[in-house]
Amino acid sequence: MSINERYSCAIVRDLLPLYIDGALSRESREYVEEHLKVCGGCGEIKAKICDSSIETAVVIEKEGVLSRFQKKERGRAWTAGAVISVILLIPVVITAIVAAAGGTDIGTVLVLAASMCLAAALSAVPLMSGKYRFSKTVALSAASVVLIELFVSLFFGGGPFYRIAVPTVFGISLAFLPFVMREISLPKMTAAVKGALVLIWDSVWLYLTVWATTGGDAYAFREGMTVGTLFLLLTWLIFAVTRLPKRIFGSLGRAGIIIFVIALWEKLAGHAASVMMGTGHELSGYQLIHWTMDAALNDKINSVIFIAAAVLGIILTLAGVAAKKRRG
Ligand SMILES: [Zn+2]
Repeated sequence: MSINERYSCAIVRDLLPLYIDGALSRESREYVEEHLKVCGGCGEIKAKICDSSIETAVVIEKEGVLSRFQKKERGRAWTAGAVISVILLIPVVITAIVAAAGGTDIGTVLVLAASMCLAAALSAVPLMSGKYRFSKTVALSAASVVLIELFVSLFFGGGPFYRIAVPTVFGISLAFLPFVMREISLPKMTAAVKGALVLIWDSVWLYLTVWATTGGDAYAFREGMTVGTLFLLLTWLIFAVTRLPKRIFGSLGRAGIIIFVIALWEKLAGHAASVMMGTGHELSGYQLIHWTMDAALNDKINSVIFIAAAVLGIILTLAGVAAKKRRG
C-alpha cells in the first residue's frame, strides 16, 4: 500500500460517520464512494459503523419503552398513595363527628389528624411524589411530628411546646438534612456550599436546642453553649480540612490533617472550656480521656495520646503531599 493510499484511508475513515449521516458535500461524498469501491478495509469499517448505528437505535427504542412502562408504574403508585390517603382520613372524620356530638374533645381530633399526616408522609407521599421523593418525605414527616407535639402540649399539658419541638427539628436535621441536600439540585451550588449550608443550619439548631432544653437555668445554659461551641468548632475545622485541595494533599494528607486537628482539639478543649466557663479548673466530661484517677496522671496520658496522634497526623500529611507530588 502506497503512502498516498494510506492517507486516503485515514481521511475516508474520518469522514465515514458524516458520510453515513448524509452530511457530506457532494465532492466529499463522491471521494468516499470512489474509495469504498476499491478499498475492502474501509468498506468493513463502514459496515461496522452502520451496525452500531442500529444498536443505538435499539437502545433509544428500549428507553422509550422503559419510560412508558415507568409512567404506567408511576400512575399505579400515585393511585395507591391516593387510596392510602383516603383510608387515613377516615378515622379523622369519624373522630371529628364524635367530637362535634360532644363525645370527645378537639385536642384528640387534632392529635389524631397530625398522626395520620405522619402516616401519610411515610406511606402516601413516597408513592405519590416523583421528584425529590426523599426530601418531601422527610420534610412532611418532620412537620407532622412537630404538629403532634404542638397539639399534645396545647391540649394535654406536655410542657412548653418549643422545649420538645426544637430538639426534634435539630435531631431530624442532623440525621436527614445531608441526604436532602444531596437530592435537591440547586443551580450553581457546589458540594462545598451545600455542606456549609447544612453545617450552618445544624449549628443554629444546636444553639436553639441548648436554649430550649436548659430553659431558664443560667449555669446549665452557659455550660451547654460552651460545650456546643467547642464541638461545633471541631466540626467546622474538620469541614474546612475536607475542602483543602485534594491535588496537593491527597486523601491521605487530608486524613493526616484531620487526625492532627482532632488531637489538638482534644488536648485544648478541656482548657478552653474551663476558660470559657471561668471556673479556673478542668471541667469534667469534656475530655476523651477522663478516668477516675489522679489528675496529673490523667493529664500525662492525655499528652502522650496527643503527641502520638499529632506525629501520626503530620507523617500522614507529609506522605500524602509527597505522594501527590511524585504523581505530579
Ligand atoms: Zn481505505
